[in-house]
Amino acid sequence: MKNPEVAVSVVRTKGNDYPLIKEAVDEALSLIGGISDIIRPGYKVLVKPNLVATPTERLSGGVTRWEVCKAICEAVTEAGGKPFIAESSAIGVDTEDVIFVCEYSKLREEGIPVIDLKSGGQQPAKLKVENPALVSELDTWQIVADADAIITVPVMKTHDQTEVTLGMKNCKGLISDTNKKNFHFLGVVDGVTDIISALKPVLTVIDGTFGQQGLGPIFGETIEMGLIVASKDVVACDAVASLIMGYEVDDVKITVAAASRGLGEKDMDRIDVKGEKIDDVRVRFKRSSEVAIEGVPPSFNLVWSDKACTGCRNTVISVLMDMKKENLLGLLDGQYALVGHHAESEIPIGASPENTVLVGRCAASLGAAGYGRCVIGCPPGNSDTIKGLIGESAGKER
Ligand code: SF4
Repeated sequence: MKNPEVAVSVVRTKGNDYPLIKEAVDEALSLIGGISDIIRPGYKVLVKPNLVATPTERLSGGVTRWEVCKAICEAVTEAGGKPFIAESSAIGVDTEDVIFVCEYSKLREEGIPVIDLKSGGQQPAKLKVENPALVSELDTWQIVADADAIITVPVMKTHDQTEVTLGMKNCKGLISDTNKKNFHFLGVVDGVTDIISALKPVLTVIDGTFGQQGLGPIFGETIEMGLIVASKDVVACDAVASLIMGYEVDDVKITVAAASRGLGEKDMDRIDVKGEKIDDVRVRFKRSSEVAIEGVPPSFNLVWSDKACTGCRNTVISVLMDMKKENLLGLLDGQYALVGHHAESEIPIGASPENTVLVGRCAASLGAAGYGRCVIGCPPGNSDTIKGLIGESAGKER
């Protein structure tokens, strides 16, 4: 017997023009019973896209397309709410640059506020986390704390640390860079469930038109899915989307942890999937562990700490792509690169001060003890990281 309150809709889009995207979003919302029960007249409604980093192309599947957010904002307005879009991109990324490249400036011109949380002017605020798994308080902004309802609007992507990044992980963009860094250090799974516990998003709408497989969340391969997935239960929405991506629900630790905290439903016997059947739309996304960057010598040892956060992860992958273009990858032969915080006992056998680079401020703490050359920065810049990888200490704090 299905629990009718836990509905997830899966709708195919019929094209990429705005009216067709809006039609799919409207149908997805209608299949889950509309939004008048969660959006009351006068509500300030924060719509949170995934604008984690500047993509090479806005429909590369790495970021939420503006059409989905616009359709949601129109639905919110029809329900009497006052929508606004807000985001803070990954550490080291200029959110305004992402807003511009992803054409969200169009929405500003149409009168929909699009707010870069990190730029000056936003008042900081604290949010209490009840029964925390990691932190009792989150650093956010007043405009986030004052929202009457939050709608998370992720894309469908693989992630090198958490298998997938969907509705729950998308909410990390609503906390400060300091919290983001600490969460990677202390535990991203518990950190994300603390965020969901505090922010309580009332609706998830996944922009599954284009996603990313492989080296997600930024350097993945674009995969066209042509889907919108929606639910008022963020855990159930993530569970269904991860099944569509070819995972088992329990492969995704954030989903398991959130369900065990009572933040939503992950039991497929209690989730009513409306619209398309999962089996008819499922595509196995390539895992990030299944992708190697062509040309990287097998003798190059890239050692990630599980505490390394998006800033350093993106920098290192982006640097390897740059080095590939410049035919520099051969210089990595026999080198060790340690990224993120490592204890001395975790230094791999074979690494020596001569062949080891410590990438980023977290790893550089081992530099003082003479374990290798340091690339300073949080995250370090690309050119400094290249210098470090090919033999020089480099960088400055950012
Ligand atoms: S140095 Fe790198 S891993 Fe450490 S907090 Fe900064 S960006 Fe994250």
